[in-house]
Amino acid sequence: MSNCVFCNIVAGKIPSAKVHEDEWTLAFMDIGEVNPGHVLVAVKPHVENIYGLDDRQAAAVLQTAARVARAVKTVYSPGGLNLYQANGPAAGQTVYHFHLHIVPRHENDGMRLTWPAKNPPREQLEANAARLRAVLD
Ligand code: 5GP
Ligand code: ZN
Repeated sequence: MSNCVFCNIVAGKIPSAKVHEDEWTLAFMDIGEVNPGHVLVAVKPHVENIYGLDDRQAAAVLQTAARVARAVKTVYSPGGLNLYQANGPAAGQTVYHFHLHIVPRHENDGMRLTWPAKNPPREQLEANAARLRAVLD
C-alpha cells in the first residue's frame, strides 16, 4: 500500500534503523522509542492487524521477536521487557500495518500499563471459553 508508512519502510522508500530482516519480517527501531532498544517487528506484506495474519506470518513474528528480545537483553540488560501489540482504535493502534513492540523496561521508566482485573466467577469464565471454542477453526 503506497500510503502506508510501514509498507514504505519495508520497501526502503522511507529510511529506518534496521535490526533484522528475513523473508517474512522486518525489525527496526521505533522512532518514538520509550527506552533505547525499543524495536518494532513488522510483517512484510501489508496486513492491517492480527486478524489478518496467516499461520506462517504469525509464527515468523514471534520467532523474530524472541531473537530480537535476546539481543536487547544482551545489549541493554533491562530490568524487564514487555511485548506490546495494538489492534484497532480502542486498543490504541496508530499504524495500521501489523507490528509488535519489543519494549525493554527499567524501574520508574514512566511507562504505564493499567490492567483493571475484574475477577469474574468461574461459571462466567467457562461460558466465555465455550463461546470462543465454538467459533475457533
Ligand atoms: P502503534 O501505536 O500502532 O502500536 O505503534 C506505532 C508505532 O510506530 C509508534 O510507536 C511510532 O513511534 C512508530 N512509528 C510511526 N511512524 C514511524 C516511522 O516512520 N518510523 C519508525 N521507525 N517508527 C514509526
Ligand atoms: Zn502497510
